[in-house]
Amino acid sequence: MAHVQRMSTSMIKTLRDDPADAETASHKLLVRAGYVRRSSAGVWTWLPLGKKVLDNVSRVVREEMDAIGGQEVLLPALLPKEPYETSGRWEEYGELLFRLRDRKGADYLLGPTHEEIFTLTVKDQCTSYKDLPVILYQIQTKYRDEARPRSGVLRGREFQMKDSYSFDTTDEGLAESYRLHRAAYTRVFERLGLDYRIVSAVSGAMGGSASEEFLAPAAAGEDTFVDCPKCDYAANTEAVTTVVAPADPSGHGPVEELDTPDTPTIESLAAYLDVPASATLKNLLVKVDGEVWAVGVPGDREVDLAKLGEHLAPAVVELVTAEDFVGRPELVRGYVGPQGLGLPYLADPRVAAGTSWITGANKPGTHARNVVCGRDFTVDRYLDVVVVEPGDPCPRCGAGLEIGRAIEIGHIFQLGRKYADAFGLDVLGPQGKPVRVTMGSYGIGVSRAVAALAEQTHDGAGLCWPREVAPADVHVVAAGKAVQTQLAAELSERLAEAGVRVLLDDRAGVSPGVKFTDAELIGVPTILVVGRGAADGVVEVKDRRTGEKEEVPVAEVVARLA
Ligand code: ATP
Ligand code: MG
Ligand code: MG
Ligand code: MG
Repeated sequence: MAHVQRMSTSMIKTLRDDPADAETASHKLLVRAGYVRRSSAGVWTWLPLGKKVLDNVSRVVREEMDAIGGQEVLLPALLPKEPYETSGRWEEYGELLFRLRDRKGADYLLGPTHEEIFTLTVKDQCTSYKDLPVILYQIQTKYRDEARPRSGVLRGREFQMKDSYSFDTTDEGLAESYRLHRAAYTRVFERLGLDYRIVSAVSGAMGGSASEEFLAPAAAGEDTFVDCPKCDYAANTEAVTTVVAPADPSGHGPVEELDTPDTPTIESLAAYLDVPASATLKNLLVKVDGEVWAVGVPGDREVDLAKLGEHLAPAVVELVTAEDFVGRPELVRGYVGPQGLGLPYLADPRVAAGTSWITGANKPGTHARNVVCGRDFTVDRYLDVVVVEPGDPCPRCGAGLEIGRAIEIGHIFQLGRKYADAFGLDVLGPQGKPVRVTMGSYGIGVSRAVAALAEQTHDGAGLCWPREVAPADVHVVAAGKAVQTQLAAELSERLAEAGVRVLLDDRAGVSPGVKFTDAELIGVPTILVVGRGAADGVVEVKDRRTGEKEEVPVAEVVARLA
């Protein structure tokens, strides 16, 4: 049975003003309406209302993961360094990783994502092909020392993620696990009431052959994407945040990284490269005077474009393409990087199946560093810049394309055998011979989804939750007089008995005006006002989203809302 949550005895404190540093609607409203409180940069406290919404999102995710046969587990967030050294990510992650040391001097990290530990768990638990396929998932706190934690819980340094991992013995099995996840994600985001697009993401640093992102269109989003208003065509573009300086001409020298506090944008780099800002600058390799520079996203580091400008002259910039890597396996390494790095070359099956990282001189942890044009390959094309202007014809249906901003709410990858290779994950096959396992990894930003929903559904008066995630079904406002408070409490109890989740504003000494404003701000889908009409046996039912109001006889209201 549902119970009545009384505001008079709850820790629900709304604020009149937006937090000073807040730029996005979700940040402002979630703080003002009393859902979350900032603890430190990118680290948040979930207050009672916020925790309910977060739990509702988790519940939907859990139900849909269970429905595809996922088994929930809970792995530690505090992880030893060694597995991440084995995979190469201890280095690859760079400053994104929270590292710590125990009293005995052993190195640990706070998990940013858990491929390594899941691989080891399955290696420990599964020995035969009969134990597979298996899908494991957890809803857990993740840690990433993001360079620019911003927008409230949209980009936290501590955040909630549902991460799952599939383990199969065959490529067909992996494809099926991936398909199951894709379908589950579709159901999750539909149930949550999110507007979303599925876009193909270059497999990038995570490796593997197939990868798609789920994007929730919103002005506050940090991803730029191309969207067709007529059909379901959508594609992502990626912001460019790092530049690695040119290699020592010897090809083996130290790599200098440009590291300044200025934040480049895709617009500024595009302006510099003299391409439209809407160009798809997915991991760019640029050749300057015979040397290749990588412009990618390893570790959310930043670069001063002006400094880049000292080295780059637009007239001599050429872009490297996948062609340049064909037949040059020494330039391609199976390292896993920190981000959805998105080297489009790796999506090209001719480059090197199952690898995910392009590096020069076989140095781990490098990103196309020390690759010397002319010695290692030649460049003569300009293929990887896909220039799309708003209004350009959709490749699928010809309608005018739109370019918008979106929030990445989910990401699914076919990893292949990268981690199984790194950790020697085999099971005994039907013939008694070991079979190497193939994996997928799949993430949903659970806490980010709360913010994405707030972004998409709020209005001028406040939050406006879809019922499935709302902290309550009905917000009962007692206008103030004792009889009204009495009736409101009575109706609330009866609603709760009927299974309705009720938030009752029974605060004494708070004006009806403030209560109404708070109800709009808090954003429960139905507002039930017990006011003046109560004397005549009617109450007012208001739809938070549409604003429609209706007088309903007291005798009918419970049946109506149950
Ligand atoms: P982004 O591009 O926004 O940095 P990501 O590609 O690094 O995200 P993934 O490694 O794909 O993220 O993680 C899976 C999901 O976890 C993402 O799709 C996103 O919804 C969520 N997520 C990632 N980073 C954060 C963060 N800092 N705060 C909140 N949610 C996050
Ligand atoms: Mg990231
Ligand atoms: Mg991603
Ligand atoms: Mg991403």
